[in-house]
Amino acid sequence: MAIDTDRVERAVRELLIGIGEDPTREGLLDTPKRVAQMYEEIAGGKDEDAIRVLSTQFAEDHQEMVIMRDVPFYSMCEHHLLPFFGTAHVGYMPRGKVVGISKLARAVDIFARRPQVQERLTSQVADAIMEALEPDGVAVVMKAEHLCMAMRGIRKPGTSIVTSATRGVFREGLATRNEFISLLQQGSR
Ligand code: ZN
Repeated sequence: MAIDTDRVERAVRELLIGIGEDPTREGLLDTPKRVAQMYEEIAGGKDEDAIRVLSTQFAEDHQEMVIMRDVPFYSMCEHHLLPFFGTAHVGYMPRGKVVGISKLARAVDIFARRPQVQERLTSQVADAIMEALEPDGVAVVMKAEHLCMAMRGIRKPGTSIVTSATRGVFREGLATRNEFISLLQQGSR
């Protein structure tokens, strides 16, 4: 379902009243509308099909690991609706089909742009690549800072959460897993 911007606008107005603000004061007048438009952008990933994006493939005899490293992503935690953001690393072992790197980045983006938990986001990216490309295996590592841990609660800014999801040879083969890890570390910042 597409974003119901009228409803979001009404909710934001209510939220402003709820926190003791006056939604009719000048600075806040257009805020509900701006927030509603923003949600179309940051929560619109549900309306896009990552599998379809990843189905733009080309046949290639390359049978070695392909890694996309340090792709920035922005998501929002579903418990507090606050951002979490960081970098994603995606590796896969092709079996006759490869996909453009920009499509991998877009798949990450599609799953990130909805209320999420980082663990599920990581798994969804891995599962979509498995389904669309049918590779010998996939590994996804995401490292992120959560504003709900920095601004509130335990207030520990700078703490990052790392999650990983491995499928196929990345899960079963120690050599593949080690190769992936060492390629991630090479020249990393
Ligand atoms: Zn949270």
